[in-house]
Amino acid sequence: MVFFIYTLFRMWQKIAKYGRKLVEHKLVESNFGNISLRAVDKMLITRTGAALDEIKGNKVVEVDIQNTSSLDIIASSESVVHREIYRQTPALAIIHAHCEYAVVESLLEGPAGIILPLDSEGQYFLGDIPIVEGGIGSCKLADNLANALSRRRGAIVYGHGTFAIGQTLRDAYIVTTQLEHSCKIKYLYELASSERK
Ligand SMILES: [Zn+2]
Repeated sequence: MVFFIYTLFRMWQKIAKYGRKLVEHKLVESNFGNISLRAVDKMLITRTGAALDEIKGNKVVEVDIQNTSSLDIIASSESVVHREIYRQTPALAIIHAHCEYAVVESLLEGPAGIILPLDSEGQYFLGDIPIVEGGIGSCKLADNLANALSRRRGAIVYGHGTFAIGQTLRDAYIVTTQLEHSCKIKYLYELASSERK
């Protein structure tokens, strides 16, 4: 029991650490986005409306991955999406953010499109970036994202934001920053190119 409580404590502390980093680096506004960590057949996820830069133990909730839970009502509205990603991929950590350039690039490319990074790091690290459709917390979004993330470490929801996966939150955070960086480079390059014509 003591070990279980300690593990839970460590998990929400990690979620809090990356929540602060996301907000500090302007990858998401404080009251948006969500973060989760998998522990065997459970996931610890931020609660609905939780400010990501103010996470404490009472701002996360543990729910089942395979089954719905009575606590789903206080969990993030994107719990259904996180759950489906854990079911269909080997991910142990998920970060959802509202990165500005990623959202803009998804709008420019269109739903169900693909963003091809222009920077060499993005090409090497991400490959192409899938854009998926679906309403917030919908089964359609859950299916589309789980499918995209079974092939890639990061994807962008059309007009909404990024989802990144990893074996740790650090992995998922790095993928989030890379998604935003590649979209920023692409946006700025294409803007500068159009002005030179
Ligand atoms: Zn969102």
